[in-house]
Parts: sequence; structure tokens; C-alpha cells
Amino acid sequence: MLEEQRFAEILIRWQQRAGRHDLPWQQARTPYRVWLSEIMLQQTQVSTVIPYFERFIERFPDVEALAAASADEVLAHWAGLGYYARARNLHRCAQQIVTVHGGAFPKTAATLAELPGIGRSTAAAIAAFCFGEKSAILDGNVKRVLCRVFGISGFPGSTVVERKLWSLAEALLPETGIGTYTQGLMDLGATVCTRGKPDCDHCPFTAACVARREGRQRSLPEARPKRIIPERRASFVLIVDAHQRLLLQRRPPSGIWGGLLVPPEGEANALLEQLQLRAPLRQKLPHLLHTFTHFRLELQPTLCRIDETPEIPPGEFVWIALEHASDAGVPTPIRKLIRRVASVLG
Ligand code: SF4
Repeated sequence: MLEEQRFAEILIRWQQRAGRHDLPWQQARTPYRVWLSEIMLQQTQVSTVIPYFERFIERFPDVEALAAASADEVLAHWAGLGYYARARNLHRCAQQIVTVHGGAFPKTAATLAELPGIGRSTAAAIAAFCFGEKSAILDGNVKRVLCRVFGISGFPGSTVVERKLWSLAEALLPETGIGTYTQGLMDLGATVCTRGKPDCDHCPFTAACVARREGRQRSLPEARPKRIIPERRASFVLIVDAHQRLLLQRRPPSGIWGGLLVPPEGEANALLEQLQLRAPLRQKLPHLLHTFTHFRLELQPTLCRIDETPEIPPGEFVWIALEHASDAGVPTPIRKLIRRVASVLG
């Protein structure tokens, strides 16, 4: 197992030799430029960010200029970068820095993290680069590097694994050279230990990395576990009378589709008997699958044609003209069933 102290030493040496040194936001590393680049780089590649960053800095050279701009103009300079909540937060954050902090960025990660759109990792990056604070970053790239080098199993997005990664990231911090170290972590994740093609032969951790030693580069970090959605089945009886009316029933207030109208649920024979109806024509229709948040429902419809025009049965039942039934406040999958019935009856 790689000693924690050695990790920073190796990484700093590698960054000085092979890391990136000429990114636009590395020149004149002001909090404004670092902050802007960090926000732009979230979910976005460096090569995409560079021209946006340069145009942005040209139009809004400092936090005051950004705060004074209109929201529309900020969004117009962001257009194409995606995830527009970032731009709106960026603008709000600039205004807050001007009005609350007198135009100067707070100097600690903890205070930076209170500003709109600045998460724990971004706050740490600004504090480390601009104010030399010994503060840990943990974005997707860093999680990947740490999971691989130290062989950390489990999905990094889960609370337990994330907590473990944060404490590891903090334990690894060097006493000196925090800026180079932080840049090294970012560079290694972005250029060497990439998601799909880690270049282990050119990695400074090639000898110590658990994933490399055990051939687990592909399986670390672990993917989000697949959720198994339970499946249920329910039979629905679609009874159509001689006047092309469909029988619907109001659901009880609790449970799925509470209070909505749906065709009666249950077994066709029992239901027809209960309602004292005779259906000489019965036809099973294709199943329909509907996914709810916590389960998947297979609806098994049976179409029953009756050749009378019965009275409205007492209670929660109602006859509705088939052509209007799908607009009668029925849930989506039931609307599909009704349309299916309408097309079968032509
Ligand atoms: S040795 Fe390979 S898997 Fe391990 S950190 Fe380096 S590039 Fe990533």
C-alpha cells in the first residue's frame, strides 16, 4: 500500500515535469479567473472551455464587470457550454461577492463554499490555488484516481464511499506545494488516468497503483449499482356496452391512481357476475407496461362487449362514451388502453 505522504511527493514531482502549465487560467491566477475556470470545467472538457473562458474574460474582465452585466448577457456568453444553472449561479455569485464581500473573494474554502454554485471541491480549489490553503478537492477525476491507486471499492457517489474518499483526500494533502499538488491531481485525472483509457505506462503511480496491479482499471471506480425495480401485474376489464360506452370506476383515494377513473380491476368473470352483466364477446388485448418510480406495472386488459345498455351501476361506477373516456381524468397508461380499445372497435 502506498504511504499517504509518498503520494503527494510523487504527484508534485510528476506535475512539475509532465503536468499542464500553460492553460489560460494558470496565467495570472486570480481568484476570479480560477473560480470562472473551475465552474466552466465542471462536466466540460478543457478544450471546449478555453475559447469560452477567453471570450468571457474579455467581456467581463473582473467580478465587478460580471456582477454589473445583465443576466441575458451572461447567458449569451455561456450559450453552448450547457448546464445553464452554472451561468445563473455564476452571475448571482458575482453579485454576492460585490455586495456582501466588497468585491473580494473570501479567502477560506469554508466561506467560499457558502456562495451560490460553489461546492466543497470548487471552494477548495480556489482556496488552494489562490490562498495556499491546505484544502482537499474531490471531483469526478480525483475520485477516479483515488479509487484506482488505493483500490477503493463501492460506488463513489454513495455516502459511505464518498465520505471515505473525502477523508483519504484530506489525509493525502502535502504540507507544502498545495497549488502544484492540486493541479497535479487534476492533470493526472484528465490526461493520464482517464476514464476509458488509463495510460498506466506513463503514470507516476504505475508501481504502486492497486487497480494496475490487480488489473482492475476497468472496474474501478465502480459503477452506480443498478436498481432492481419490482414488477406487478394487474388485470383490467374494459366493458363496452351497445352504445359504445365504457365502464369506469373511481379508485379509492389512497394507493396508485388514488381518486382517478380507471376501468374496473380484477378478473373478468367475477366482475361481470358482480355487476350482473353478460358479455358474449371477450377479447384479451396485448399487455401494456408502465413504469412508476418504485415498480413496474404490467396491465393485462380484457375487452368485454355487452349487447345491452345497462343502467349506471350503483356506487363508484360510471359509464362514459368511449370517444370521451380518454379525456375523463384517467391516468396515462389507462388512456393508452382506452385508445387501444377504440381502435379495436374501429
Ligand atoms: S497506474 Fe493506471 S490506473 Fe493506476 S493511477 Fe496510474 S493510470 Fe490510473
